[in-house]
Amino acid sequence: MSDTDTQGHAETLRTPIVAVLGHVDHGKTTLLDKIRGSAVSEGEAGAITQHIGATAVPLETVSQMAGSLVNPDDFDLPGLLFIDTPGHHSFTTLRSRGGALADIAVLVVDVNDGFQPQTLEALDILQRTGTPFVVAANKIDTTPGWNRQDGEPIQKTYEAQSKQARKRLDENLYKIIGNLSDEGFSADLYWRVQNFTKNIGVVPLSAITGEGIPDLLAVLMGLSQRYMKEEMEIDVDGPGKGTVLEVKEEKGFGATLDVVLYDGTVKEDETIVVGGANGPIVTEVRAILQPRPNAEIRTEKRFNRVESVSAATGTKIAAPDLEDAMAGAPVRVVRDRDLDEVIAEVEAELAGIEVDTAEQG
Ligand code: GDP
Repeated sequence: MSDTDTQGHAETLRTPIVAVLGHVDHGKTTLLDKIRGSAVSEGEAGAITQHIGATAVPLETVSQMAGSLVNPDDFDLPGLLFIDTPGHHSFTTLRSRGGALADIAVLVVDVNDGFQPQTLEALDILQRTGTPFVVAANKIDTTPGWNRQDGEPIQKTYEAQSKQARKRLDENLYKIIGNLSDEGFSADLYWRVQNFTKNIGVVPLSAITGEGIPDLLAVLMGLSQRYMKEEMEIDVDGPGKGTVLEVKEEKGFGATLDVVLYDGTVKEDETIVVGGANGPIVTEVRAILQPRPNAEIRTEKRFNRVESVSAATGTKIAAPDLEDAMAGAPVRVVRDRDLDEVIAEVEAELAGIEVDTAEQG
């Protein structure tokens, strides 16, 4: 692919979009909170950016959190964008062009509890959507006799454990690898995996102590950089493409869309086409809203208005006539394209969503 198109637009690498899945109580929310919290406590201004419905962790911050495991010079992807709502319901509703909206997934499995019904469901979804994923073998700190090493890479934490503790953890990890194999996935501890497209990497970690989180971030960055770089090439100045996360009523704005934008740019006053319960909605962007840092939930001014946003990002769009818009539906900026063509595109995607919902019955 060339670096510039005929209109002279530069290709830019966007942030890979990461989703977290797994059985209830296995630690999805805690893991996301820990990644956000650790990034913030690295103390750098701009360590993370809280988006609507997503958290962006820039490469610099990933590298600070991962220490020697991520050398920023080895990467040209700008970081990772985590979707804030974990779980496979949001994963299955969030699609883009027929595939999953997330480029990559983390399947969280409680290392003591092992595979559970929703773990199997999640695996099935990941397989159907062809989404690359890694397994986070979570809660390693609950291993009897564990000597916690907060925030350390897994190798360092292993070295600090007694023989018995290590053996107990290994037994649990091999059970998970066995379970994956029973489901037809060839898997191994991540440091033994050569090719992440053929084998699933298992990352032992603790969402509470942060042990192994450096490893998880390194694996996510490495996998994205090595196998998905081409998919991350976008024309950042092009007409925006996104997926509706949620339709929300906001005081002063009426119905608004929380959107994950995976391609291009959206600007104020632009015409957009949005998937709705009764077909495509054609409307105009009134305002683009970003969360205000540290805003109090009850104060009215929870958002900052911006003139435009670019992929990959989470954002809130205020526009008239959004009452029928649906979570999971496509959002398209029309710009210099033919309106009917864009409407047809949105219609085609909506048909895909309906077929899928029917399949899941
Ligand atoms: P979710 O339903 O998958 O989002 O699970 P949560 O994140 O709500 O976690 C369920 C429970 O497990 C909570 O009480 C967490 O504090 C606890 N938990 C999650 N991760 C860990 C971990 O790594 N170690 C320990 N000891 N507890 C954890």
